[in-house]
Amino acid sequence: MKKVYFTVGPSQVYPTLYKHINRALAEDVPSMNHRGEVFKKLFNEASEDLKKLFNVPESYQIFFVSSALESMERTIQGCVEKYSFHVVTGSFGKTWAKYATQLGKKVTKLETKFGEGVGISNLEVSQNAELICLTQNDTSTGIWIPPQDIEALKKKYPNKLLALDLVSSVPFVDINYKFADVTFFSVQKGFGLPPGLAVVIVSPAALEKTRVLIKKGVNVGTYHNFENLSTFAQKGETPETPNILNIYLLNAVVKDMLKIGLSKIRKETEQKSNLLYRFFESHKNFEPFVKDIKFRSPTTLVLDVKGNSQALRKKLSVKGLIVGAGYGDYKDSHIRVGNFPAHSLKEVCQMLKYI
Ligand SMILES: *Cc1c(COP(=O)(O)O)cnc(C)c1O
Repeated sequence: MKKVYFTVGPSQVYPTLYKHINRALAEDVPSMNHRGEVFKKLFNEASEDLKKLFNVPESYQIFFVSSALESMERTIQGCVEKYSFHVVTGSFGKTWAKYATQLGKKVTKLETKFGEGVGISNLEVSQNAELICLTQNDTSTGIWIPPQDIEALKKKYPNKLLALDLVSSVPFVDINYKFADVTFFSVQKGFGLPPGLAVVIVSPAALEKTRVLIKKGVNVGTYHNFENLSTFAQKGETPETPNILNIYLLNAVVKDMLKIGLSKIRKETEQKSNLLYRFFESHKNFEPFVKDIKFRSPTTLVLDVKGNSQALRKKLSVKGLIVGAGYGDYKDSHIRVGNFPAHSLKEVCQMLKYI
């Protein structure tokens, strides 16, 4: 039986992935020389297409690293000498703040109760904070920070750097990149690709900060520090031997998405999300975990199934439909459902029918 993975990551693969993998093998992509002209072309194309897809300013740079967790560490190293500020609305935000502490930074946090959002457009950020870290969509709680609030916050603090974890909301989330200094995502969620690759989008201001830190003798990391990534990116290369196959696949899927058009993809995601939330709102036993509609994630839905998580997941898996368990302590009380471009409306309807 063919399975459909509604898990929040790794998730269902993008429908064209099979075709692209086969072509990659036929073209000997896994043996490609990462210092050769073919790779440089691939690197530049992938970078340009990502900029086109997300409307990223020309002056920004695209880096490829191995994971979102790595991106969290690199962002702290590259943008913080002493003080970082974190909005924590779930486990991923908490992890990011922990890494900053482990790197020896002084961390200030605004932490909400699990499942509660927070309006940040008028947030008071500690004066000494050099970087504001936001997990725009925390996959553990299903808490979403509205993009317009993020823009307002950056306008309030134009001189602080702003970093966004967009792992489980791309390509749906509509960010004006002018108001973000570092954004990152890994590819095994919204892009429906194999894990082991993340994209970091860096503003000139963030890169400049790294250069200042290097001059001051601050440890910004080694091969994957922003300055070194930038030096290599300008040659169409990465410092290490990268995940060439996955960069190839990402490039192919981004081209597919450009062809379909991001506005159409976003509309479909919204349609599926509305359907899912309406279903659980009117269900006699189950309900959405996040109560305030403003903070409900359209892409990673956390649903309170009142202790029935295991039984429900088992029932669905018999039909080939795989949904995620709740996060941590909520393993048995919640299910989590990924709503990404790889999930069709028809598959969503089928899942709801079996629930
Ligand atoms: C999955 C996830 C991560 C971690 O991604 P990796 O690729 O495993 O490093 C980080 N942040 C959020 C919000 C996530 O959903």
